[in-house]
Amino acid sequence: MTVTPPPGQPERSDRERFSEALEYAHLPTVLMVLVQLTGDRHWLEARYRARRAKGLADDITGGLPPEVQAEVRAAALEAILAWRAGAPVAIPDPSDELLVAMLSSSTGERVPEEYGPMFAEVLGTRTPDEPPARSAAPPGFRAMIVGSGLSGLAAAVRLRDLGIDIVIVERRDEVGGTWQDNRYPGAGVDVPSHLYSYSFASYDWSHYFARRSEIHDYIRRVADDFDLRRHIRFSTEVLSARHDADRQGWRVLLRTPDGTAEEVMVDVLVSAVGAFNTPVTPNIPGLADFAGPVVHTAGWPDDLDLAGKRVGVIGNGASAMQVVPAITPTVGALTIFQRSPQWVQPLGEMKGPIPEQARFLLREVELYARWYRVRWAWVFHDKLHPSFQKDPDWPHPERSLNPINDGHRAYFTDYITEQLADRPELVDDVLPTYPPFGKRMLLDWGWYEALQADHVRLVTSGISEVEPHHVRTGDGGRHELDALVLATGFDVVRFISSFEVVGRSGVTLREAWDDDDGRAYLGLAIPDFPNFFCLYGPNTQPGHGGSLIHTVEAQIHYLGDLLERTFADGVGSVECRREVFDAYNAAVDAAHEQMIWTHPGMTTYYRNSRGRVVVNMPFRNLEFWRMTRRADLDGYLTEPRRRPATHDSGHASGVEESSDEESSHAAGVH
Ligand SMILES: Cc1cc2nc3c(=O)[nH]c(=O)nc-3n(C[C@H](O)[C@H](O)[C@H](O)COP(=O)(O)OP(=O)(O)OC[C@H]3O[C@@H](n4cnc5c(N)ncnc54)[C@H](O)[C@@H]3O)c2cc1C
Repeated sequence: MTVTPPPGQPERSDRERFSEALEYAHLPTVLMVLVQLTGDRHWLEARYRARRAKGLADDITGGLPPEVQAEVRAAALEAILAWRAGAPVAIPDPSDELLVAMLSSSTGERVPEEYGPMFAEVLGTRTPDEPPARSAAPPGFRAMIVGSGLSGLAAAVRLRDLGIDIVIVERRDEVGGTWQDNRYPGAGVDVPSHLYSYSFASYDWSHYFARRSEIHDYIRRVADDFDLRRHIRFSTEVLSARHDADRQGWRVLLRTPDGTAEEVMVDVLVSAVGAFNTPVTPNIPGLADFAGPVVHTAGWPDDLDLAGKRVGVIGNGASAMQVVPAITPTVGALTIFQRSPQWVQPLGEMKGPIPEQARFLLREVELYARWYRVRWAWVFHDKLHPSFQKDPDWPHPERSLNPINDGHRAYFTDYITEQLADRPELVDDVLPTYPPFGKRMLLDWGWYEALQADHVRLVTSGISEVEPHHVRTGDGGRHELDALVLATGFDVVRFISSFEVVGRSGVTLREAWDDDDGRAYLGLAIPDFPNFFCLYGPNTQPGHGGSLIHTVEAQIHYLGDLLERTFADGVGSVECRREVFDAYNAAVDAAHEQMIWTHPGMTTYYRNSRGRVVVNMPFRNLEFWRMTRRADLDGYLTEPRRRPATHDSGHASGVEESSDEESSHAAGVH
């Protein structure tokens, strides 16, 4: 067999190409493929156990001696070629015990056995606990999904599979949400791309950590490949939604592309409006009078030219970490206004592209790609969770939470001081005093290199005022600038703020949440809001690291199971019981009490105006995954379906329009 070569290159044999690819492959992952393909467990012996990697510094050799590397590559080549020639996979479905032993050997760590079932699912060999197929949706049953970002599209795939007539309403003219909006230079993901992608749609990523445009391409491709666009109403905004108890559904008011109002009736309403879409503009006196461009990272104009300009960047969080290294080479001068120092971890070679040879292996050997994802699902997810737990006996709460967290502190401190070896006077300004992970952990996209450039200046004194051509700081400084970049983040604590939701009793979601105190069972279901579900709702952000997609897919799995059960039982209205909701939120708060974001003195965007952590999930991914495997209708108030869900509209949009008499809204909404 031969692999089709890129145009213009001579045809090469499989042996040649795989042999070359294995030189670039991640050997601890290759070893797992070898175990499964050959069934030979001697590859799990101590001789082949990888050295435990620190942080993201992931040595592709796993620290194995050269002769062992050569042995593994040679055996893998034969095993892969045999498999390509038709040999079956010797262990197609490793037991939980074996899977965890394999991952432990591959990471050089002791992965607890309880992770077996979840990682079997990530590996794709099993779908454990998958409920048996129940009834599909009754004919004409309709769901509206608000938003066509990553969450909305994933929900669409699952709900459509249940036979639900779906419509996705999107106020923009394209899919992608976050990755459509955030176009600032350097924008990208802070999670390895092979983890920050759907379980059901793999991709040939060009970078370990993809940049915005590639992620956006991926999302667009998923929309096309899964034929989702025909369900989307673009340039259409949901303005409000009101529960209709008689119809056991939701009346949704839309603003259509021509600005007119339209009311539609759906059985289920799913909010997938995300959390990062209300940019925060800092309240600084005089900001509105600045003479030059003032640009928030989330609203970056495509034609903004900063070449040679004196630019001020306000903020030093996740987006500043990305935009500063990206614009430093072109601007005339850069002044960074820092409010508080941030912990930053090294990215090393993972900042760059994935070598073509490694991509080849990821494309051609699915088992390798899947093990690669499993690896990240451990390294980037729950592995870090213990570092976030308060230890009441720990004698140094002023600097860290526990011995593991203190070890992280030492590791990151060494990195920062090494990076600033030539400018040691900067260390005091950038080294945080609070424990690592107390705020979102950032990645070094070139931040320390940028800080040391001759034309870059770090200002740590707070901004007191903005004048038309200057920024004044508390230390008496006056900084002359041509343009201002607001890297000041988003208002994420006010969940679902883009449209009004009125529940069964007439209370709005905003009122129920007392503005910014969002709570939901599994981040998804709320008492008094029957048949309404929110994805990426309160307390769902994977704060201890990792990919939101994992969490949202878990929510969607649960939602699909819940709806299937309602279809099977002839249920028309399903509303989370108050006691279930309260118990869940009490567990969330109790877990947070033991965790880093409630550590004395910590301020983060994860906490609302009263200090409650409303954004982050306190649980391990494993726990949330378990909680979302099966829905239990006993946790819900249910009503039998009162009407057949058949409103044959034949509408391309898939939504039923309300009749004129029913509609309480006039046209012409602007
Ligand atoms: C710069 C940046 C970097 C990030 N990096 C990471 C990362 O590394 N890892 C990670 O896990 N997460 C990251 N995130 C979080 C990111 O938002 C999520 O991972 C994910 O993209 C959220 O997808 P979503 O579909 O839930 O929401 P969104 O992507 O926000 O999509 C919501 C959609 O809903 C639409 N919408 C909203 N209101 C309405 C309405 N009333 N009517 C109609 N349409 C509406 C919006 O137009 C949008 O298209 C990052 C966020 C930002 C801003």
